[in-house]
Amino acid sequence: MKEASFYEKLADNKVRCNLCNHFCTIAENKRGICGVRENREGVLYSISYGRIVATGVDPIEKKPLFNFLPGTESFSVATAGCNMRCRWCQNWQISQLKTRDVPGHDATPAEVVGMAIQRGCKTMAYTYTEPTVFLEFALDMMKIAHRSGIKNIFVTNGYTSEEALRAVAPYLDAANIDLKAFKDETYRKLCGATLEPVLNTIRLYRELGIWAEVTTLVVPGVNDSKEELKEIAGFIADVGIWIPWHISQFYPQYRFLDAPPTPVDVLHRARKIGIDEGLRYVYEGNIPGKGNENTYCYQCKELLIKRFGFSIVENRIKDGKCPNCGAEIDGVF
Ligand code: SF4
Ligand code: SF4
Ligand SMILES: [Zn+2]
Repeated sequence: MKEASFYEKLADNKVRCNLCNHFCTIAENKRGICGVRENREGVLYSISYGRIVATGVDPIEKKPLFNFLPGTESFSVATAGCNMRCRWCQNWQISQLKTRDVPGHDATPAEVVGMAIQRGCKTMAYTYTEPTVFLEFALDMMKIAHRSGIKNIFVTNGYTSEEALRAVAPYLDAANIDLKAFKDETYRKLCGATLEPVLNTIRLYRELGIWAEVTTLVVPGVNDSKEELKEIAGFIADVGIWIPWHISQFYPQYRFLDAPPTPVDVLHRARKIGIDEGLRYVYEGNIPGKGNENTYCYQCKELLIKRFGFSIVENRIKDGKCPNCGAEIDGVF
């Protein structure tokens, strides 16, 4: 537990948390929407600080980041809690708190980064739940990671407040941001949030110069219409045609069992929409071998990185350039 950053004191011992776009007003002995920030006698605490609930060593492609240090391994870490309530959350056991207790085991930032160093990872990924809600802990790890030559990645729902994102930006090297839908109603009904702040966050990543890729889980009947996919792709292209867009297959789970898995041809169609909107890199995820998970040169269409699922079969990029036409490939290689 640690006193929170990013909050202000209000009258009657209430506080306002400024960490994410919910901007919760929290009365004494209460917690914010994420369940891991608590007001004790007018002081806001991050009660998940140093409570590790999950770690793992994953290919960076699993985050997914496809244009950032491809073929390297990332040390993933999470604490419990999330500021959204997605009905299809695949990590709901750790993202949605069911009791007052914060699950996990204690570890210091240095101990966690030490594990990443020991495993030879090039990056630390703050993931599985939402890094924003454990930002103080993440930031302490991120500073140590940078001093140790390790880069930092957020896998995020994009609900971080502007103030908080600007504070971590000097230590944040890349992110994968979910853009779950292009309808505010979908965010409100199925995720417990709103759309506009997520769009603003994606724009802010660009302004801050942090490498960003965007993921959309294509859920049948929710966001799979041509119009909505076109709106999502068009928005991303407007922010930057170099931003990779990952369109991934939905599987029924948690509290959303009333839609079938996304048909593969819907993902193919979404990819075509993304390309037609001008995006340079559109990847179909969760369907190894069946979809398009390769990187092609946007200029001459040469196959540059051949993948099977999260594995790199071949990487032909040389010094960040296409070996055929010399085009600079967007990302960090
Ligand atoms: S992080 Fe977001 S959800 Fe959690 S208390 Fe702060 S404003 Fe509320
Ligand atoms: S934002 Fe991510 S971790 Fe949070 S509920 Fe949604 S899917 Fe789960
Ligand atoms: Zn080329």
